[in-house]
Amino acid sequence: MQVPFTDLKSQNNVIREEALSTIADIIDNSSFILGKAVTDFETAFAKAHEVKHCIAVSSGTDANHLALWAHGIKAGDEVIMPANTFIATAWGATLCGAKPVFADCHEKSYNIDPEKIEEKITENTKAIVAVHLYGQTAELDLLREIAEKKNILLIEDAAQSHIALYKGKKAGGLSSAASFSFYPGKNLGAFGEGGAVTTNDDELARKIKMLRDHGSDKKYYHKYHGHNYRMEGIQGAVLGLKLKHLEAWTEKRRAAAAKYTEVLIGTERIILPEEMEYGKHVYHLYVIRIKNRDKLQKFLFENGISTGLHYPVPLHLQECFKNLGYCKNDFPNSETLANECLSLPMFPDISDEQINYVCDKIKHFLKG
Ligand SMILES: *Cc1c(COP(=O)(O)O)cnc(C)c1O
Repeated sequence: MQVPFTDLKSQNNVIREEALSTIADIIDNSSFILGKAVTDFETAFAKAHEVKHCIAVSSGTDANHLALWAHGIKAGDEVIMPANTFIATAWGATLCGAKPVFADCHEKSYNIDPEKIEEKITENTKAIVAVHLYGQTAELDLLREIAEKKNILLIEDAAQSHIALYKGKKAGGLSSAASFSFYPGKNLGAFGEGGAVTTNDDELARKIKMLRDHGSDKKYYHKYHGHNYRMEGIQGAVLGLKLKHLEAWTEKRRAAAAKYTEVLIGTERIILPEEMEYGKHVYHLYVIRIKNRDKLQKFLFENGISTGLHYPVPLHLQECFKNLGYCKNDFPNSETLANECLSLPMFPDISDEQINYVCDKIKHFLKG
């Protein structure tokens, strides 16, 4: 049996006909950049996330940048974020000229550990970026408490956690601004690149809209230094269609995760993902931990099962951040996770048969 790591084909098939006809409309209207399809998607996405504003942009990385840039983050500022995240979280800070400052993750949620943050705060600290890793929200109340006490911003990187819940509330509206990614493999994916910033702050939303379009809200009149971070019309149209299925696809991901957990629970030598009592996990990834991870990955691959590593090198040990002066063992939880994490096949239409096959092979490996 072959089990791919992810499979977009069945999702694409669900919207294929509608997508082709809306794309034809966009061609006929030549509304290739922003336009009605994008505005309609922004309204629907904001509603789905119970947040006032959504500004659709060109990628999640650009959304990471805009969320900090619009707040005036600049050279000399420091931005605290988890060491175990995708590199793009850090680009948000570095593109502003600011310095990323890393903190370790919680051993169970794998999200930034609120207890590890205060020691990182200096007079230059301007923001904390909480990444909702793998589809599970960070401990936002505790993070907000620290941010308020120290008078710094709290930002969410929600690239992996569309419609995830924290204490019954949607991710994306629970901080000053949040960034989302619509990279094709994310829980909500475009037919290309895409991202969004969400916020409840009217002024900030206005500014982000201008920054994404050359610092302008009137053609050729530029209030701010800006950039071209606009979303394409075709992406807005496709995302609008897919958004209608997001709840159903998310429930299927949760059912697949529950099935994995049911079959694997109690298996010695592997650690399963835990859903924290405060939230609802949307399982962008189902990540297990095992000591001889590389061997298991190879064994599964030989048996037709593709898996992923999220992420094999934490940010503080990346070559590009050598100048920041971090060392091995600075963040033990993040480093253990990097060495032991293995992301199992996960997509809404994964079958019970496929999940059983993956679990059988894992158990077979562990016996051997
Ligand atoms: C995917 C991702 C991003 C970047 O999104 P792109 O759309 O690929 O630019 C940022 N942060 C996290 C945590 C991600 O997983």
